[in-house]
Amino acid sequence: MKKHRMTMHLRSALLSLCVVLVTYAAYLHQVLGGAKAPSIHALCPFGGLESLYQVFTTGSFIGKIFAGTMTLFVLTLVLAILFRRSFCGLICPFGAIQEFFAKLGQKIFKRRKVMPAALDKPLRYLKYLVLAVTVVYAWKTAGLWMAPYDPWSAYGHLSNGLESVWQESAVGLIILGITILGSLIYDRFFCKYLCPMGALYGMIGKLSPFKVVRNESLCVNCGLCTKNCPMNIDVQHSLKISSAECINCQTCVLNCPQTNTLNSYEGQRIIQPLSVIIIVLIVFFGSIFAAQAAGVYRLTPDALKAGEAIGYDEVKGYMSIKEAAESSKTELKEFYETFKIPANVPAETKMKEISTVSPGYDFDNAKESLKELK
Ligand code: SF4
Ligand code: SF4
Repeated sequence: MKKHRMTMHLRSALLSLCVVLVTYAAYLHQVLGGAKAPSIHALCPFGGLESLYQVFTTGSFIGKIFAGTMTLFVLTLVLAILFRRSFCGLICPFGAIQEFFAKLGQKIFKRRKVMPAALDKPLRYLKYLVLAVTVVYAWKTAGLWMAPYDPWSAYGHLSNGLESVWQESAVGLIILGITILGSLIYDRFFCKYLCPMGALYGMIGKLSPFKVVRNESLCVNCGLCTKNCPMNIDVQHSLKISSAECINCQTCVLNCPQTNTLNSYEGQRIIQPLSVIIIVLIVFFGSIFAAQAAGVYRLTPDALKAGEAIGYDEVKGYMSIKEAAESSKTELKEFYETFKIPANVPAETKMKEISTVSPGYDFDNAKESLKELK
């Protein structure tokens, strides 16, 4: 049991590390800009899914998405085939944030609350609808149309201040609030009901040889597995967990007091929880390091990094007018004229914030009208 407790702490520590690293990267993106630090969209595998149609039809990525994002997307699919939704249970920082709030909620309410079955069952299908709608629209519009409604994007921009996030993505901020409040009451609220990637990994995970198996003859029916499952799967009364809801967090196995009663199997082979965690991390982060070494893991625009002139279509909202003019190698005065920026707007203003100084200015429209120019 002591060994299991250490594995539980290790898992929590690794998830915390993922949250800290991604939060720091999102903060750096806000202060350094997209040339030096990737956006929260580039760091999310969902961006790869949103870009998929454009990659197949034109060979290019949609805005803010790069080859590294596609690498993340493919890696999470590989993990889903090998270890079901292990990205959700062992790596995803947004899932981890929900777990932390769930732990806080359990301290407040003194127990893990379970959504009534009559509501829980239909709500679980909601994420498949979110998946279908978001993917169809992303492929149709060839853009990150969901960004203003995305709670993860809202989280990644929090370092700009609540007012700025509210102005840019009020709906995303509201969903982030609902996710946090929901997680205080019901563990993994967003994962269970709303996450499109969870829906996709769950479906793909059905092909996986990985499963948690209960040995009925050794089970003492203590119910600790079911009680501790963040996805509320009834492990105690199952012989094999084949549910698309299982996030492979290993919590049930780690909480079972009986030796060899709950085991994780890859095919016919038993794998200990610690090994599952280590293998998943090696596959995921090892592949990222390998892709980085091979020079194919890029999360920022090439031209910006290399110091070459970027096209007007690559001017980003986080750039100041001055930075955008310099990056596109355009005289500041000419840049103001080209982007139709009123002269009273200071050059230090971020492109996406011009409208706060000059109401009515629409950065996206200005950029769209210049598509053919540079
Ligand atoms: S069944 Fe076990 S591994 Fe799957 S989500 Fe529940 S606790 Fe985690
Ligand atoms: S925790 Fe282990 S012993 Fe208890 S009900 Fe679950 S499988 Fe059986």
